[in-house]
Amino acid sequence: MSILVTGGAGFLGSHVAVELLEADYDVVVADNYVNSVPKAIGRVEEITGKKIKTYGADVSSDEELDRIFTENEIEAVIHCAGLKAVGESVEKPLLYYKVNLETAIATLQAMERHGVRGFVFSSSATVYGENCPVPYTEDMPAGGCTNPYGWTKYMIERIAIDAAKTGKIDAVLLRYFNPIGAHPSGLIGEDPAGIPNNLMPYISQVAVGRREKLSIFGDDYPTPDGTGVRDYIHVVDLAKGHVLAIEYMKEHRGYEIINLGTGRGTSVLELVHAFERVNNVPIPHVITERRAGDLAEVWAVADKARRLLGWTAELTVEDMCRDSYNWQKKNPNGYGN
Ligand code: UDP
Repeated sequence: MSILVTGGAGFLGSHVAVELLEADYDVVVADNYVNSVPKAIGRVEEITGKKIKTYGADVSSDEELDRIFTENEIEAVIHCAGLKAVGESVEKPLLYYKVNLETAIATLQAMERHGVRGFVFSSSATVYGENCPVPYTEDMPAGGCTNPYGWTKYMIERIAIDAAKTGKIDAVLLRYFNPIGAHPSGLIGEDPAGIPNNLMPYISQVAVGRREKLSIFGDDYPTPDGTGVRDYIHVVDLAKGHVLAIEYMKEHRGYEIINLGTGRGTSVLELVHAFERVNNVPIPHVITERRAGDLAEVWAVADKARRLLGWTAELTVEDMCRDSYNWQKKNPNGYGN
């Protein structure tokens, strides 16, 4: 029996694949490499010493999905495939709705056709949005998304919940906070195309001299130092949460929404200073205007993950800074594309 990881060559998916293999699951990956490269899979195999069956497939295609489900005994699916650039989603909303919704619906339909129940979904804390005061708990009325990317996450949660209500699917919807860091081997990590939108990849690229300086988007937020506060979580901790979600679904039917965060907020300046301290490298930075759509503060109540999955984040902000830099130093141009 295998776990199918859609988008398994991506930042999240590749770390999930490592943790699954290390927990002795067989892994099948489907990825169309729109925002990832096959090389990442080779690196996962190098880390674990195990083989992955890989399909360069688009999971919006019923035919490709049928082939994958027929050729493998799939026990459950971890659905990481999808487009994820917030800014791009504002410019190309229809593309985001089409790709993200189609891949999720086609994957769920293929699961139904092949009698596979377990669906773990890469959702996001962005679904809480403007409606909810921090810290976020899973029972808050989500749906204050500020961009099409966030709405696709919100809609896919709905779709999976309705599918679970038929009794044919079990779903664990994982709301990620801010995943950063990299595998400690430095063999896999985040490799954004073009200029990074997210904070940690930007800091890492400044650290290795690929970018001149970091722009900090606003220092007049109502936070202790005026810069935005987020709940950064090490991608390895996050990946382990997926393995526990798979375990959980062996014993439980229905659906659950679960935050994966540390429960602690860190400001932009705190993260910059931690990175400088841990890695002994300067990060030149300037304060600029706020970025449209950004919230002042986002962090999780992570109790439900502990209660249901037995999961807690173990790695610190220092670990995240060290591992992000290690990956970037060993791979200054990412996977080299
Ligand atoms: N941020 C920043 N400069 C950058 C990128 C991000 O100051 O070049 C800030 C951003 O305003 C936010 C935090 O860093 O307060 C995290 O942003 P990111 O894009 O990584 O995640 P998200 O906005 O999804 O929480």
